[in-house]
Amino acid sequence: MNESWASSDHARRTMRANKSRDTKPERLVRSILHAHGLRYRTHFRPVLEVRRTADIVFTRQRLAVFIDGCFWHACPEHFISPKTNGSYWASKIDGNKRRDVATDDYLREAGWTVLRFWEHETPSSAADAIEGQVALLRQTVQSVARKSTPRRES
Ligand SMILES: [Zn+2]
Repeated sequence: MNESWASSDHARRTMRANKSRDTKPERLVRSILHAHGLRYRTHFRPVLEVRRTADIVFTRQRLAVFIDGCFWHACPEHFISPKTNGSYWASKIDGNKRRDVATDDYLREAGWTVLRFWEHETPSSAADAIEGQVALLRQTVQSVARKSTPRRES
């Protein structure tokens, strides 16, 4: 039997499992936000023409939130390069990181605020940061709306 094949197959299965859409940290963050009365879209494309999906999206505030997996996005604290097929994973994960940067650029150019969290972060502190940003953006939206209201001539 070929041990390196077996272990890389195991690694691949593990990674696939990790890539599931609704990861546990993401669900926890969402449930806190929901309990606090915030409403959002999930797995939503903020900019229609840009084929990138954010995990939690506040459309009115133009806030896109990503909860990044420690493996797939190479978290500095937890990422360990798999021993087998090292160069395959290295180029794959490098591609993911470049894609993340490009996604942030696209969204920011389109007027969106982007927040990224690691899946290892405490869900309540991620939720706090998101809530704070939503509150901030709500104020901005309101002040812009006030400014753009045409003034009546008296
Ligand atoms: Zn991590």
